[in-house]
Order: sequence, then C-alpha cells, then structure tokens
Amino acid sequence: MNQTDSSAQEIVIEFTGLKKTYGAFEAVKGVDLSVRRGELFGFLGPNGAGKTTIIRIMTGIIRPTDGRVSIGGVDLLAEPEKAKIRMGYIPDRPYLYEKLTPMEYFDFIGGLYALDPEIAKQRGENMLRFFSLWDWRNELIEGFSHGMKQKVAMSASLLHDPDILVVDEPMVGLDPRSVRLVKDFFLNLTKRGKTIFLTTHTLSVAEDLCDRIGIIQRGRVVALGSLDELRSRSSDVTFDLESIFLQITEEEDEVAHGNPPEARLPAAVSNEF
Ligand code: ATP
Repeated sequence: MNQTDSSAQEIVIEFTGLKKTYGAFEAVKGVDLSVRRGELFGFLGPNGAGKTTIIRIMTGIIRPTDGRVSIGGVDLLAEPEKAKIRMGYIPDRPYLYEKLTPMEYFDFIGGLYALDPEIAKQRGENMLRFFSLWDWRNELIEGFSHGMKQKVAMSASLLHDPDILVVDEPMVGLDPRSVRLVKDFFLNLTKRGKTIFLTTHTLSVAEDLCDRIGIIQRGRVVALGSLDELRSRSSDVTFDLESIFLQITEEEDEVAHGNPPEARLPAAVSNEF
C-alpha cells in the first residue's frame, strides 16, 4: 500500500451490519468491515464461511437481507450502477464469450462501459502484451487453456480502469510464472492507489500479498488485522499464515461446538491419523 498518499486512509469499501439469510439459514450474520484505498485486503475463510455470498452482494449479483454496502462512498443498494462502475470483478471461473477473440471481447466489454473504442483497444492490447497473450489476440477464446482464459478475464475487468478490484480465487489454474506475474501486477495496482479485495484458499498468496486480512467463519468476521497483528493473537510468533488460520478457525470451532476439534473426529479416523 502506498502510505505516502494522504488519501490512503480513505475508506473505499464498507460493509455495515451486512446480513444474508437463505430461508432460516443465516449465511452472513452482521458483518462490519472497512477497506482503505490502496489496500490489498485478503478475505479468507473455510468452505461455506460466507465469502462468495459477500462477494456476490458486493458485485450486485444478490441483495443482502439487511445492512449497507458502500463502494467508493456510493451506497450500492441505492445507486447500484454508480457503485458498480468503480469496481472490476474477476470471478474464480471466467465468464467469457468464447466465440470471440480477446480483442473482439474487449471491444464488447468496452461497449458495455461506454468506453471510447480506441481506449478499450489500447488498454486491451497492453494487457495482452503484459500477459504474453499478444500472439493469441486474434484467436478464438474457445481454444484457450483455463489460465489463458483467466488472464483474458482479468484484462477485461480492468478495461474501464476501476479503482477497486474484487478478485475471487485468482491463482487457480495459473502456472508458477503466471502466479508471479499476477502477484506483481496486483502489487503494482495498489501502489497506484487501486484497492484490491481478494479471496483465496491459497494462504501463501495471501501471506505474500495482503496488507490486511479478514477471516470469516460461519458468517462472522472472527479475525481482522495485518499478518503481524494476527500472529500476535496466535500461540507462536513464528507462525505462518496457514498455522495462524488453522489455529484461529479451530479455536472458533471449539467455541461454537464446545469441544476441541480432535474430539469431533470419528474414533477410527483419529486413530488412523
Ligand atoms: P467456499 O470457500 O466453499 O467457496 P464460501 O465461504 O464462499 O465457501 P458461501 O458460498 O458464501 O461460502 O456460502 C455460505 C453459506 O451459505 C454456505 O453454508 C452455503 O451452503 C450457503 N448458501 C450459499 N448460497 C446459497 C443459496 N443460494 N441457497 C441456500 N444456501 C446458500
């Protein structure tokens, strides 16, 4: 994060009392969370914790049952279009029109954002060069590998130059060189004052990249802070993020179930392992 910029303290993503219920089930149970401009924020949590639900609320795909979401100071529920234009969204599975080439796809996406076609073309070309997809610019997307499609989706999400990037599991299916490239790319964006809200199960990626981390479990934020702040909460100051994550989530499980995690394993499984 670029701490020299005085605007760095500005809150650009804010959830207040966010709730989502499905029938009687509370998937998100009153989340309050703020992310500042230029932060690379990692939103982590076990399967079923509520991460995707919150991302789907943020990106306007579903409505919360209760609470408020502010994006770049704009109330998402009151002014969805104005809020959404400030965001780029990179889903875990890219949705692309595969009968188009990357350049045709960028032209289409540019049209959705009413971008000048020349600007969309220029930005798209820059992104393809960056991701070493230049030679594929006029090939149909349907022939691309998963990683290549992911790079096209990433490029398309940035065409309208959003201030905030919401990224769901960005590294899945990327080769090690591409992972490095994407990490550097994210860090470069935050240096330029962009904000990234990232969810991942790859804790080494979160550890390398994130300024702050929030851990959600059973619909509640159970830990929030920098890696050092989370580490100071753990039993060992040498813990890496994986160990911290496991300890925090197991402790929360103990509180929820009233017994230690190992006691919940079937006897045969405990004995075997
Ligand atoms: P994962 O890491 O496995 O992707 P997640 O943290 O993204 O998990 P969510 O997909 O947000 O978890 O799900 C949170 C909870 O809400 C889960 O218990 C899930 O079963 C439930 N849920 C999500 N969508 C629906 C739905 N449309 N109807 C009913 N329950 C749902």
